[in-house]
Amino acid sequence: MKKIAVIGGGIIGLTLANYLDTTKFTVTVYDEGLGQATKASAGIISPWLSKRRNQKWYTLARDGAAFYQKVVRDFKLEPTVYKKSGTLILRKSQEVAELAELALERKKTAPAIGEIQLLTAGETAERNPLLKPQPSLLIDGGARLDGKAYLQQLRKIAVAKGIQFIPEKATVQRKASAYEVLSSQTGKKDFDFIAFTNGPHLQNSLDPLGYLAKVRPQKGQLLVFQTNFSASGNWPVAMLDGESDLIPFENGKILVGATHENNQGFDLEPTPVAFSDLQQKTLPFLAEAALFSQPYHYRVGTRAYTDDFAPFFNCLPADPAIAVASGLGSSGLTTGPLIGFLLAKYFNEGSNDWQQYQKPLTDYLAVK
Ligand SMILES: Cc1cc2nc3c(=O)[nH]c(=O)nc-3n(C[C@H](O)[C@H](O)[C@H](O)COP(=O)(O)OP(=O)(O)OC[C@H]3O[C@@H](n4cnc5c(N)ncnc54)[C@H](O)[C@@H]3O)c2cc1C
Repeated sequence: MKKIAVIGGGIIGLTLANYLDTTKFTVTVYDEGLGQATKASAGIISPWLSKRRNQKWYTLARDGAAFYQKVVRDFKLEPTVYKKSGTLILRKSQEVAELAELALERKKTAPAIGEIQLLTAGETAERNPLLKPQPSLLIDGGARLDGKAYLQQLRKIAVAKGIQFIPEKATVQRKASAYEVLSSQTGKKDFDFIAFTNGPHLQNSLDPLGYLAKVRPQKGQLLVFQTNFSASGNWPVAMLDGESDLIPFENGKILVGATHENNQGFDLEPTPVAFSDLQQKTLPFLAEAALFSQPYHYRVGTRAYTDDFAPFFNCLPADPAIAVASGLGSSGLTTGPLIGFLLAKYFNEGSNDWQQYQKPLTDYLAVK
């Protein structure tokens, strides 16, 4: 059996680990867990109406959203983990009509969009009583994912398959015929293959191996409110006009987020500025301000982002036994499972059929 170490246990790392062929590989996942984006995330899976011009990114996000059908089946995800809640896109009337046209156009190559409905102001407020009456577009195929619950479910399945978890930071060094992984409690272990799926920390991890990864940390904060709306689990996600969104989960849990802070490094402190920023961006869409006086706590995580805000995933030019994936930015819940699956296919079968999804690796990574 060959040995493979997965460095980073977020959405890519755990999906990859679960799709690896455990008749061929002994799999070990190292995960420090600090600042993890997956468990801090908002949970929106609805990429179709993005105005981003990067076609490769759109193809990846579109296929990533559709890939959830397989993920739900393969990992038996309950609706508390992944639910096709639908997404409401809130815009001014004219813009809503334009977006409806775009949605119809995109649906030709993205059937996962599902039904597309223009809602009147009254219908919007009926779907989500927190919202004030305003026109919206309902995208039936939009979904929400509880990132933390997803990882818990995948970890349970992985442990049952004999995959080992080491909750520690790991560093990797090249040896003559193997890679040595070092962590403080577990010490040194040798591996034949390495998958780096450690978000914005990729840069530090690749430095001793002679590569420069052009990836940076972005701080994201969101607010988790506990309300008495027992039916909130049935409400659609509301994508507001601007940077804030409203994501309802079961039993009155309502998320509002998230911030995109590019100059905070790996800082994980919640800030009152984030609260007032999110409040200011969200209040114009709410029927009343009461949500913001409910009990709440913060979630803070670190996204990885690149110069063009697009992800990259590939094997390293001079080290094909090492695969890397990072830079998933704000849409990593949408693209992460498909990326994990494609990397697992690379290790299992040697296939790297991923050019349609990304620019060349040299855009994101250099040999030092
Ligand atoms: C506030 C917020 C809201 C978001 N909302 C959405 C959303 O609504 N929709 C969407 O599609 N995306 C969203 N995202 C983006 C998405 O969460 C991320 O892009 C995605 O989770 C990244 O997954 P990952 O596996 O690459 O990294 P992560 O989930 O960050 O996992 C990387 C793991 O590697 C570990 N690690 C790092 N270095 C080491 C090391 N040397 N050794 C061991 N472990 C290490 C880290 O501790 C971490 O646990 C959001 C992100 C944030 C922060």
